[in-house]
Amino acid sequence: MRIVLMGAPGSGKGTQAQRLVSRFGIPQISTGDILRQHRKEGTELGKRADAIMAAGKLVDDATMLEIIRERVARPDAQSGFILDGFPRTQPQAEALTTLMKDLGTPIDAVVLFEVGANELVRRISGRRTCSLCNKVFNIYSAPPASPATDCVPGSSEHQLFQRKDDEEATVKQRLQVYEENTRPVLSYYSDAGLLRTVSAEGAPEQITQRLLEALGNGAAATRPASGAKRAKSAKSARRVSPRKRAARAAPRRGAAKTRARTAARRTPIRKKAKSKTAVRRRARPVSARKGAAKSRAAPRRRSRKSKR
Ligand SMILES: [Zn+2]
Repeated sequence: MRIVLMGAPGSGKGTQAQRLVSRFGIPQISTGDILRQHRKEGTELGKRADAIMAAGKLVDDATMLEIIRERVARPDAQSGFILDGFPRTQPQAEALTTLMKDLGTPIDAVVLFEVGANELVRRISGRRTCSLCNKVFNIYSAPPASPATDCVPGSSEHQLFQRKDDEEATVKQRLQVYEENTRPVLSYYSDAGLLRTVSAEGAPEQITQRLLEALGNGAAATRPASGAKRAKSAKSARRVSPRKRAARAAPRRGAAKTRARTAARRTPIRKKAKSKTAVRRRARPVSARKGAAKSRAAPRRRSRKSKR
């Protein structure tokens, strides 16, 4: 099962991702974490990312895709993964589709964790950090015990403060930016028939239940066209054992640098060639997408659920 998780800051998707990890035994792939790890270990990718960031730029899509390609080739991801933190833009989503098609392992579902704006603001602006022990609390949902037994030795009370990022005005701004950036990605996945929306308010257990139902129903609700395609790629994937596939992918890992350079040249060209037909088949207004993404997104919403 290959899933992409999407949700605003404070939507609780991290918690739910962890539950999926232990339930299905598939890894959570968080691009941010992997990038940090590469930089820490000083790998080729890490060095490249360092150079990019030292120049004050954002790590480019080709590098991010390289990271994902390398990560999904590892043995623990052969029966699936939960992708978190990527894609954040429509070009990234398109590139991810191309990559997964190349690998013969398309994404099965994209889950959006939906939480009302007021609730999100409440959740995030309730966060408090202890300046002594760095633990994070929530004055609404997870207040610290008083007196505290889990702070630094010698302190019977946590010294709570609110991070600038968590202040209400900042939160509202962050959420607005998130929504503007994400809207086209959600439209893209909705057009592809992959989007499942889960109401992420309420008890964590209930949300998990809804999530599992959404994933189960997802398989049944698959469109015939993509269903046939999926069956085909599943078949071809079966012919090669996961171990062999991993072994095949392994030598390429060593040549990350060269490959990355080729990928950077190759991806956009291929993407264009491949997605043309797919695009024609599914979504007419793609030609109007450039520059008109915003005005287009609103009327194309199919359900009230995906409105936020
Ligand atoms: Zn403390």
